[in-house]
Amino acid sequence: MSRSAHPAGPRHGDVLPDGHYSAPPADLNVLDEKVWARTVERDQEGQVRIGGVGVRALAEEFGTPAYFLDEADFRARCRAWREAFGSEADVFYAGKAFLSRAVVRWLTEEGLNLDVCSGGELSTALAGGMPAARIAFHGNNKSTTEIERAVEAGVGRIVVDSFEEIERVAAAARAAGVRQGVQIRVTVGVEAHTHEFIATAHEDQKFGLSLAGGTAAEAVRRTLGHDGLELLGLHSHIGSQIFDMSGFEVSARRVVGLLARIRDEHGVELPEIDLGGGLGIAYTSDDDPQGPAEIAKALREIVGRECEVAGLAVPRISVEPGRAIVGPTAFTLYEVGTVKPLPGLRTYVSVDGGMSDNIRTALYDAEYAVALASRASTAPPMLARVVGKHCESGDIVVRDAYLPADTGPGDLLAVPATGAYCRSMASNYNHTPRPPVVAVADGRARTIVRRETEEDLLRLDVG
Ligand SMILES: *Cc1c(COP(=O)(O)O)cnc(C)c1O
Repeated sequence: MSRSAHPAGPRHGDVLPDGHYSAPPADLNVLDEKVWARTVERDQEGQVRIGGVGVRALAEEFGTPAYFLDEADFRARCRAWREAFGSEADVFYAGKAFLSRAVVRWLTEEGLNLDVCSGGELSTALAGGMPAARIAFHGNNKSTTEIERAVEAGVGRIVVDSFEEIERVAAAARAAGVRQGVQIRVTVGVEAHTHEFIATAHEDQKFGLSLAGGTAAEAVRRTLGHDGLELLGLHSHIGSQIFDMSGFEVSARRVVGLLARIRDEHGVELPEIDLGGGLGIAYTSDDDPQGPAEIAKALREIVGRECEVAGLAVPRISVEPGRAIVGPTAFTLYEVGTVKPLPGLRTYVSVDGGMSDNIRTALYDAEYAVALASRASTAPPMLARVVGKHCESGDIVVRDAYLPADTGPGDLLAVPATGAYCRSMASNYNHTPRPPVVAVADGRARTIVRRETEEDLLRLDVG
């Protein structure tokens, strides 16, 4: 539910809900298709299903908490991005959103490329069978070992982020006797989050080489000076959970401006630009993200126009959606343990996971929806807060939610849109084993990342 819908006026802290919340939905049993994976539905018994399998059977077989991922939806989203961008552009899935070998196989089969930003992500990408040429390696402080491994593996692009790294990649390419493709990560002075973007103000960050400050142009000069480096293009990434194209418009204009200066100064037209990821998804019914077709059209128009103005051939465009592909495809299933009504305030519903499996609410004030999933209910709505089992009062999964007033211990709750940045950011806080990821398709469910066990955790503890 939207907290931006609050009427103006003083708020009495976070815990006094009266009059500050949008009305409950007319029917709590209805699942808004915007926020749920495509095959999710409520069956005639009232139980939520995904990929044709009911949550009660899933909880029985795989336990809770667990992430259930709709494989058909994941593949459909890959195809939609691929088709929207066509053969003159590339789609790189951002592996940090969620990566496993099964995911890498799906990406490979659906024709996507893959971004990694650590040795661990690179290992997973290669183990899953992604051809190295289709991998791009990111990060503002890649280790020398990571760079050497990436070069030896034949990674298609290393996105260099500092002067030191240009020398390190050049040295690794020399040692391996190869010419390494690189892009330069440029700070364009744009930061975009959700519905707002700020231009010119955001030079103050750790990523990239500054366009305005001239370090990007200097990085181009140094890179071109190394025979072992093949400068393929420029890269920018402006933020996350973005809903409109105006930030991309400014960043594309600035990146193309640098392409034109590079042509004027060095006589080369770089063949690629990467505009990054950050495309938003619907976490709640209030969010209205654009689809890949609209995004591709807008980006093509923006880049085409800017190149025409600059008298440049249109470079090959690439984008890097992470959240927009995997985010909507999964929900987290929890079991309710305790229910505490606080009269005049709200009801705290405690589940068997929390900030160890979804840190986004605590970290970013992220909003989520939630549904009673094991059954339908005709009870009236109650204002609830879904909280975890960790030793932290900020351990909140869903800050503001309406649940049926008869929600109680043993019920299963599903929190949608947890495919991105939940399992990948999960922790072992309170020595909690991390939940499994289960892929569901065509009436079959299979574990793709197994649940950790206490033995796994104890094995790390060598006394
Ligand atoms: C995080 C990141 C992405 C993906 O962001 P999403 O919000 O998941 O789309 C893409 N590119 C780069 C360089 C990133 O750092």
